[in-house]
Amino acid sequence: MAAIDETHDIRRHSWVASANGQSEFPIQNLPLGVFSPAGGPPRGGIAIGDMIFDIAAALEAGLFAGEARSAAEAAAGAALNPLMALGAGPRAALRKRVSALLAADGAERTRIEPLAGRLLHRAAECTMQLPAAVQEFTDFFAGIHHARNGGRRRDPNNPLNPNYKYVPVAYHSRASSVRPSDVPVRRPCGQRKRPEDPAPSYGPCRKLDYELELAVWIGPGNAQGEPIAIAGAADHIFGLGLVNDWSARDVQQWESQPLGPFLGKNFASTVSPWIVTPEALAPFRVAQPPRPEGDPRPLPHLWDEADQREGAFDIALEAFISTEGLRAKGLPPHRMSASNTTDLYWTLAQLVAHHTSGGCNLRPGDLFGTGTISGPTREGYGSLMELSEDGARATTLASGETRTFLEDGDEVIFRAHCHRPGFAAIGFGECRARLI
Ligand code: CA
Repeated sequence: MAAIDETHDIRRHSWVASANGQSEFPIQNLPLGVFSPAGGPPRGGIAIGDMIFDIAAALEAGLFAGEARSAAEAAAGAALNPLMALGAGPRAALRKRVSALLAADGAERTRIEPLAGRLLHRAAECTMQLPAAVQEFTDFFAGIHHARNGGRRRDPNNPLNPNYKYVPVAYHSRASSVRPSDVPVRRPCGQRKRPEDPAPSYGPCRKLDYELELAVWIGPGNAQGEPIAIAGAADHIFGLGLVNDWSARDVQQWESQPLGPFLGKNFASTVSPWIVTPEALAPFRVAQPPRPEGDPRPLPHLWDEADQREGAFDIALEAFISTEGLRAKGLPPHRMSASNTTDLYWTLAQLVAHHTSGGCNLRPGDLFGTGTISGPTREGYGSLMELSEDGARATTLASGETRTFLEDGDEVIFRAHCHRPGFAAIGFGECRARLI
């Protein structure tokens, strides 16, 4: 697991002034992504304050050597998959070098700062792309409060299926419709059937929802037939982001028996464009919360002492919506929920180990969603299905509007931050998209 080193030192400031004193992209974060500067082709970059560090430009300027150079070469193109394939060593070397290059007290500052015009782009003038070419997208169901809230409608006394505490439940979702933040999402049409309808009809989704999830980007991966052991599973996590698993609830409710979600889920998924690395997250690792008394211990192939001790993350999550009414009155987005990744029943390493335990091969750039991360109470519910109790209970916004499910023009915004005394706070940027 990533160590805490000088790149996490809260006293380290950057000569990129906007990075200092902000809780999103200070020099202690350095998340990776792919961006296009105005009029330029997509390329790998690192967020620093309100600027983007151009990895290809830094390579051209001869600023890298050794392992950091190998990583920079793999990260300079239009997708981060080649860097993802390299694993933790080169990624950590790139972080150390970029941190040194951008540090206010860096030994080479007098040489580097004059190159700022070539090395840095204003983020506001760039377009963020998908960080990787996504070939596979698996969506888990690891948020136990969400699973319980969903299951309660089926069976109030036994909301969780008997497998839930043994198997990290998931389904294979669709990679072709994964889009980065700011790409509008079209309301899907589909087959819907209310209980009172004698037959289904085809038309626009009437219960369009979001799901607040953590995005897990896969690193090196494994050969087919060779499972990744739980003890080494964390080494296959390239980094984390946010994902909105847009969900057409009426379509999902009609289609899901017996094979599970299909068209209710595969029309669009929005990911945040910046990937926060395990190195940046090292100070925010925590123990996996102990299972409640009476819950079974995971089977041995999903159990690792070190993973239980430090394999969870303390990441505060928030979901907001902005509506036409709020925007017209100049009001800020309405916060719908706040939860934390410690609300996950399984660690991310357990998801990786389980996914490969039958021999399935993971590849660099594969994407996992953790499943909706809801807190234990209504304030933490990470989907409108839960908040509205399937449409029965509306939320009133500051504009006077009410919402059960999403309406056209609504914008869904997810944010995530890590805080720990003695360390610089870091953020994930936004996962944001408007419904049209
Ligand atoms: Ca989901």
